[in-house]
Amino acid sequence: MKPPRFAYAVPESLEEALGLLREYGGDAKVLAGGQSLMPMLNLRLLRPSVLVDINRLPGEDRIEEEDGFLRIGALVRHRQAVRSPLVRRRLPLLAEAVGQIGHPQIRNRGTLCGSVAHADPAAEIPAVLAALGGEVLLRSAAGARSVPAEQFFLGFLTTALGPEEMVEAIRLPVAPPGSGSAFLEFNRRAGDFAIVGVAAQLTLDERGRIRAAGLALTGVGGAPFRAGSAEALLRGEAPSEALFARAAERVAEEVDPEADIYASAEYRRHLAGVLTRRALAAAWRRATSGNREGEA
Ligand SMILES: Cc1cc2nc3c(=O)[nH]c(=O)nc-3n(C[C@H](O)[C@H](O)[C@H](O)COP(=O)(O)OP(=O)(O)OC[C@H]3O[C@@H](n4cnc5c(N)ncnc54)[C@H](O)[C@@H]3O)c2cc1C
Repeated sequence: MKPPRFAYAVPESLEEALGLLREYGGDAKVLAGGQSLMPMLNLRLLRPSVLVDINRLPGEDRIEEEDGFLRIGALVRHRQAVRSPLVRRRLPLLAEAVGQIGHPQIRNRGTLCGSVAHADPAAEIPAVLAALGGEVLLRSAAGARSVPAEQFFLGFLTTALGPEEMVEAIRLPVAPPGSGSAFLEFNRRAGDFAIVGVAAQLTLDERGRIRAAGLALTGVGGAPFRAGSAEALLRGEAPSEALFARAAERVAEEVDPEADIYASAEYRRHLAGVLTRRALAAAWRRATSGNREGEA
């Protein structure tokens, strides 16, 4: 099927892009990698009057470290993030998650910020943002604001992004020393969207106890599920398989997935528990081996 008619604008500067978004408001859609937008247009699920193609905006493809955070700009592609030595060294959880997105063709074009703006309930990056307590940097002609992941993802394909705003970047805290992480997911065929995915990061103190835990799931609701009560259960404890099994049980109890054509609610709940236990065990192993095992 072909998309409905739309006008097409290719701004050369951020100011020009934001001006167009202000002019057209909810009638405009930002075009980044097009990997989700074009199928939505072709299926006539969206009918914007204008596409604002941001691919020529200068400087938006940067990955920068600032004040203990990585800032990932609006035009950073999945492939660029997976291959970035900075991301692999400072945020191995993100590198591992992004490497599991779709196929190479999708990763060549798709952007991390596009994935965050699109907010597919099965997407990997929203879960990583939630697990690490990251934030989404939004900009409009009226100014800029930063929204924590937990307030940004509101439900199925629904976010706090306003009609005149674009996602300028995402910002994630780098993994502190003593951290290990794992992103595990289950899908029926390699490259498919995950049925359930788990993002886990553990940070150990000098005695080997868990100083901090970040845990979030994808595929168990409309928005990423931050497993706050399992994180609390882990904090301050000595890591062990038994502890991870208890945390996994807690997660399986607390998620409230829905059935769809891919899996029953019960199956998703089961996967949530199994993958959580395995992800925590892998994160622990990697924390004690300097995360080398987790390098993609
Ligand atoms: C076959 C296939 C398999 C895939 N598998 C996966 C997968 O396993 N996991 C996964 O997470 N994703 C998957 N995707 C989606 C892919 O990751 C997309 O690249 C991503 O979801 C959107 O990024 P994009 O840059 O292509 O955004 P686009 O398609 O250009 O835009 C998507 C939406 O976000 C908006 N948008 C984009 N950028 C911005 C911005 N900076 N500010 C404001 N709004 C913006 C657009 O207006 C649009 O509404 C798959 C896609 C395909 C076609």
